[in-house]
Amino acid sequence: MTTHNDCQSCGMPLAKDPKGGGTYSDGTKSHSYCSHCYEGGRFIRPDMTVDQMKDFSAGKLREMGYPKFVARLLVRNLHKLERWSAGAARPLAESRRS
Ligand SMILES: [Zn+2]
Repeated sequence: MTTHNDCQSCGMPLAKDPKGGGTYSDGTKSHSYCSHCYEGGRFIRPDMTVDQMKDFSAGKLREMGYPKFVARLLVRNLHKLERWSAGAARPLAESRRS
């Protein structure tokens, strides 16, 4: 399984996640998504578009103390992350279900 440094949904550094990552339905930690995006094997906001995520993520980064222009820079390439580039309609939990 691939391990990422940043959440593949919102781009937040997983090291900054107070819970250390999202969870799959069996309770194991996700190494691809943070706890703000992914919990219990599903996206918390499954209907979110990438543009909404950019706004949401920039807001979170501002809360974390990043200057506005840095927040904008960090979310600029969000659409390249796994959740969005793999096709948003496909639930990623599917690939892990056995
Ligand atoms: Zn996230």
